[in-house]
Amino acid sequence: NVGRMVSNLDSFLPATPFGVMRMFEEHNIELSGKDVVVIGSSDIVGKPMASLLINRKATVTVCNSRTKDLKSHTSKADIVIIAVGVPYLLKEDMVKDGAVVIDVGINRLDTGKLVGDADFEGLKNKCSFLTPVSGGVGPMTIAMLLKNTIKAANLRDKRETK
Ligand code: NAD
Repeated sequence: NVGRMVSNLDSFLPATPFGVMRMFEEHNIELSGKDVVVIGSSDIVGKPMASLLINRKATVTVCNSRTKDLKSHTSKADIVIIAVGVPYLLKEDMVKDGAVVIDVGINRLDTGKLVGDADFEGLKNKCSFLTPVSGGVGPMTIAMLLKNTIKAANLRDKRETK
């Protein structure tokens, strides 16, 4: 599946990046020619996210915990997708006006509150599109997992009726 995904062939996509792509589609957010920064390079989010974006002709930069100056990358980006697991890492002064910010992070604070990797309150008036936590990427992940399940069931049915 990874090989098929990277080659832009029909495949089972990892649910979280799949959900983010669906969100772009639903909100008519153009990707072709856009500068996109993906923060986090895990196998389940960052790496597949970058592949899907490259296949849509975005110019993609992938950052990680060793990235020297995160702000120098994010402040030039049209779209920032953050998936690191560090509460409030992405702040208002790190993005340009009108940026699209997709917050994948899910962090439980000591107070019990669930927050993302982006500082939602600080960013909300600066971004043209910003996903909340909770109620943003999480439900999209669940929806895409169900979509993959239905696709798998349909494929099995087809195989069994042959
Ligand atoms: P992971 O721990 O496997 O990877 C984290 C990545 O972030 C690594 O590449 C690491 O180098 C990078 N990173 C860590 N600190 C950084 C920093 N200060 N600056 C830049 N990069 C940094 O995590 P994961 O499985 O990709 O998950 C990331 C977050 O997304 C977690 O909060 C997780 O709970 C959440 N998540 C949410 C969903 C969803 O459906 N919303 C799905 C998967 C993961």
